[in-house]
Amino acid sequence: MDFAITGDQQQILDSVRKFVAAELLPHEDAVDRAGEIAPELKDRIRARAIEQGLYAMNFPENVGGGGLDNVTMMLVEKELGRASFALQYLVARPSLILMACKGAQRERYLLPTVTGERIDCFAITEPGAGSDALGISTRAVADGDDFVINGTKHFISHADLADFAIVFAVTGAAETPKGPRKLVTSFLIDKGTPGFACTRQPDAVSHRGFHQCVLAFSDCRVHRGNILGELHKGFNVANEWLGAQRLVLAANCVGRAERILTLAAEWAGSRKQFGQTISRFQGISFKFADMAMECAAADLLTMRAAWKADQGTMTQEDAAMAKLKATEMLGRVADEGVQIMGGMGVMGDVAMSRFWRDARVERIWDGTSEIQRHIISRAVLRPHER
Ligand SMILES: Cc1cc2nc3c(=O)[nH]c(=O)nc-3n(C[C@H](O)[C@H](O)[C@H](O)COP(=O)(O)OP(=O)(O)OC[C@H]3O[C@@H](n4cnc5c(N)ncnc54)[C@H](O)[C@@H]3O)c2cc1C
Repeated sequence: MDFAITGDQQQILDSVRKFVAAELLPHEDAVDRAGEIAPELKDRIRARAIEQGLYAMNFPENVGGGGLDNVTMMLVEKELGRASFALQYLVARPSLILMACKGAQRERYLLPTVTGERIDCFAITEPGAGSDALGISTRAVADGDDFVINGTKHFISHADLADFAIVFAVTGAAETPKGPRKLVTSFLIDKGTPGFACTRQPDAVSHRGFHQCVLAFSDCRVHRGNILGELHKGFNVANEWLGAQRLVLAANCVGRAERILTLAAEWAGSRKQFGQTISRFQGISFKFADMAMECAAADLLTMRAAWKADQGTMTQEDAAMAKLKATEMLGRVADEGVQIMGGMGVMGDVAMSRFWRDARVERIWDGTSEIQRHIISRAVLRPHER
């Protein structure tokens, strides 16, 4: 493994860093206070990202993407991760699952999403099925050339902005030695399709300005040509993409933790109590040792997984370890960041309290910490179980 940054990578990182500093960071406080991003600001950020070639960098060049390898992409994600998620997701990396588009789906969904003309959202979670994705009850029943979809999804991120949703629904059952197992298919469903309603949910405390929605399907008719991937194989396409998504999240967390570390160090190096800067107290300085070490460890796990992804050898547990370590590290670093700032750290108008709030969701979405531990422990123990 060689993580030395090449000249090309440095050029990309310099332009992402400049973009983050000029286009994203100045708006963070206002967006967090309002819980909204003004439509014209959204359009401007997206337009600038597209103009500067920063959009859909995770997609292959042959479909119009940036064609970055995983290691370079994670270096980019660390830079983007410095900014609040509500803003940085506008510099989008659409769901790679769209690479499963075939035939006419490429023109209608994949290519315009890569160019930024259309926006996707990804909908598995339901009120009765979160960690247990196979517990979903949204059904798609075949009727001639169509499927008729009924059910409800919730917590679906940025569905308010999306033009279409990638929706997972039960299409049958297979007999297995352990009993019947649901067969799940993913569908591309346009907003505006009769029987498809999208409504905003109450805001989360993390990443204000980044909204979640309920998607309700009531006798929603979708042509079978809108199946993404193959019938009954929805989780095959989803699983391929989930690993990459977990790495993105891990890299974002590392970038944000590095920012918190700098902010906390600036505070500790200038705040005086008992006649000296608080950084001189071992009780404070040792926190920095742990924060820096944890951050570096999460960084290495993330880059190792990215490197393995580039070799085609990344396992689910590699991605799970990176996600688990980086999200839990960010939670601890943000908490210590608040502690180092004392009372000022919990004031609503300082960035540190926002980082602390924002960090909380990272251990929940894209698979909770418990689910990541489940994936890792299964991989360790399965070969030894009789
Ligand atoms: C802000 C936000 C945005 C989201 N965006 C999307 C999106 O765009 N698309 C989408 O499909 N979903 C999205 N989600 C859903 C997210 O992926 C789920 O919240 C997550 O998978 C957990 O599901 P749950 O909330 O139903 O919790 P539950 O599954 O009910 O879990 C509750 C608790 O039980 C634990 N638990 C559950 N099963 C086990 C087990 N086997 N072993 C040990 N512990 C277990 C969990 O770890 C957790 O601590 C989003 C969620 C949030 C909060």
